Amino acid sequence: MKHERESKILTFYTEKQVCFDSIEEQSYSKSPLKPYLLMKRIEASEYTEMLKVVSDFEPFVFEDFLIAHTERYVKNVFEGKGNCTSNSIPWSKNLVESLTYTNSALYNAIRYAYLNPQQVTFAPVSGMHHARPDSGSGFCTFSGQVIASVKMYNEFKARGVYFDLDRHFGNSIEDTREFNPIINLAVPKGYNVNPYGSDAEGHEYVKFFNDELSRIGYEVIQGKVDYVVFCHGADSHRDDDLGGYCNTDNWVHCATIFAEWVNEVSMHLGRPIPVTLALFGGYRRDNYNAVLDLHTKSLIQISNIICGNSFVDKLEIPEKVHKNIF
Ligand SMILES: [Zn+2]
Repeated sequence: MKHERESKILTFYTEKQVCFDSIEEQSYSKSPLKPYLLMKRIEASEYTEMLKVVSDFEPFVFEDFLIAHTERYVKNVFEGKGNCTSNSIPWSKNLVESLTYTNSALYNAIRYAYLNPQQVTFAPVSGMHHARPDSGSGFCTFSGQVIASVKMYNEFKARGVYFDLDRHFGNSIEDTREFNPIINLAVPKGYNVNPYGSDAEGHEYVKFFNDELSRIGYEVIQGKVDYVVFCHGADSHRDDDLGGYCNTDNWVHCATIFAEWVNEVSMHLGRPIPVTLALFGGYRRDNYNAVLDLHTKSLIQISNIICGNSFVDKLEIPEKVHKNIF
């Protein structure tokens, strides 16, 4: 029995969640621009029908960030002082405004999927999973996952799993366990899944992820998981500037096995498990479109397997150009 899902992925996107100031010229990470670049590229492609955009969600306010951060740090970011650049992103008012929307986009996407499980949701956002209670880190400013999940727990007693397939370990959830112990109920230990592997092709990585899907599958079937979030960071691709782990086939395969797993656990549950997607990292100076297209390839897998579509993935990911320095 296949569980009915809406055919389009509901995408929580507004240009207000994009930071345009100083990113192109001054920032190593293009992630604050990524929602805009990705949405523009998908809109101009044959894959535009995969998504349905919703823009009328409210931004977070100062107090929301106190769920995961000290007042001093949130103030520093809002006012552009102290350790406001601990995220390694140039500070601007535009950046602060965009952060109030990226973080609320993730929360609203999770909340919508939880209340409407037939609807797969998507928050095209990055820059969250390295933040700490009192600082930013590694292009991340605020712990959006922590805030979203604590809110979900406070409101619904809902417990979530994050499949964080970024190349880099998502420390923000673990680093908040003492600062806000509600996260221990909202995302219990073992529910922040970060695969890794050591071979160049990604076989070990895929096996690790597969084993973790099986482990979490048992938790889902026992009724211990209320929603899952799939964060398919493109920097786990081996041609990424900060990356490693997977060749293109294995990188895409992770999305395939996730989507098949979603269908399988939903069948066992007798209802669709709520699913939300997010972007996370991805860095290629030689070809940023390759980063965007990896994200699109992942969406195509989800759209076809979970939402029942039949988009043909024609996207090629060019190998990285290795410039000879001599
Ligand atoms: Zn990363």
